[in-house]
Amino acid sequence: MISEDLFNEAKKFLPGGVNSPVRAYKPYPFFAERAEGSRIYDVDGNSYIDYCLAYGPLVLGHADQSIIGAVSKQLENGTAYGVPTENEIKLAKQVVRRVPCADMVRFMNSGTEATMSAIRLARAATGRKKIVKFEGSYHGAHDYVLVKSGSGAAGLPDSPGVPEDTTKNTVLAPFNDEEAVAKLIESEKDEIAAIIVEPVMGNIGCIPPKKGYLEFLRKITAENNIILIFDEVITGFRIAEGGAQEYFGVTPDLVTFGKILGGGFPMGALAGKRELMEMIAPSGNVYQAGTFNGNPVSIKAGLAMLKQLDSSFYTTMNSKGQKLRKGLEDVLENNGLNFHVAGLSSMFQIYFKEGDVLDYKDAKSADTQGFTAYFHKLLEGGIFLPPSQFECCFLSRAHSDEDLQITLENVDEALKVVK
Ligand code: PLP
Repeated sequence: MISEDLFNEAKKFLPGGVNSPVRAYKPYPFFAERAEGSRIYDVDGNSYIDYCLAYGPLVLGHADQSIIGAVSKQLENGTAYGVPTENEIKLAKQVVRRVPCADMVRFMNSGTEATMSAIRLARAATGRKKIVKFEGSYHGAHDYVLVKSGSGAAGLPDSPGVPEDTTKNTVLAPFNDEEAVAKLIESEKDEIAAIIVEPVMGNIGCIPPKKGYLEFLRKITAENNIILIFDEVITGFRIAEGGAQEYFGVTPDLVTFGKILGGGFPMGALAGKRELMEMIAPSGNVYQAGTFNGNPVSIKAGLAMLKQLDSSFYTTMNSKGQKLRKGLEDVLENNGLNFHVAGLSSMFQIYFKEGDVLDYKDAKSADTQGFTAYFHKLLEGGIFLPPSQFECCFLSRAHSDEDLQITLENVDEALKVVK
């Protein structure tokens, strides 16, 4: 069946025809047949250079042979045990070695679980209820954080079914605004358990922190006994060996990881300072559990992936990202457009608007119709981006110079149509 027919069929059995909302763009999404390296292939016979990369996990590209090899062996040895394995220690040691704030790790299955558990732990540790999150940040699909959330869902950021009682303790602040956070803390410091932040906002496009902003958050939280949580589901292991905390030189108390750490398999993790992590059951009594926690397949894939993420990997990814962003700026200029190219390392996005993008409000003023037309024109040319202005695009190790060149030529064509 072709994608259009599959989508019509899917809508009968899956809400909206998909299993995660951002996947359902109009008129219908392409259905994947297979993927390899920088390319994804659909059931209609098309191939695309993929900058969505399953929304981030695939830093080595699709179907990386080293991961396939490691996982295939593991499959033969069993897929779930419900008892501990040595590989869990090995992966935990890798995380601890790389990530500045990590003394200990709890592995789970998704970023959603990781942020939910981090918030629970912060509340237990401080005896306070409130958490501060930033407008447009996305920390997964659980109730505490579904308030003015980012992700492709931006525009529908809250959700029916989330009781006000649950979110009354979630306080919002604009990103990159020191004064707003200082004021909040001034008035509510005795009630705030944690600030949770994506150090680079990756679910409202891509918004890096202003110089000194993360340092400011570190200082003000430390002064007020508030726990600082970096949600590094996107930046972890992507922008530096030690993630954003290494990249920006700021060490939080807790960190959450997700997709990337599983090397393309389901994964989530919470890591942090020993005194906090030891509060987690069974060494402490803060409940956190999961049938598939520390799943041997995901753990093996994570180990195989981390083996390849050495300092030369990051040098290559950073320069690839720089090259692409510079190329995008040149193409925009050639087309007489002054749109903002955002990003760092292997993350990027074009905001369809002029001027800086520092927070949710700036991002939301972009021309989303223009972006959608651009997305479709690129798709026609064989380039696949996340289908929303409010997602971030990613590069992988598998993207070649030729891929970048083809992409820039297509962007040039797409912008001519959009103008
Ligand atoms: N936190 C951030 C920063 C994310 O980008 C995401 C997912 O995109 C999540 C948390 C939730 O992760 P998951 O989709 O694995 O539940």
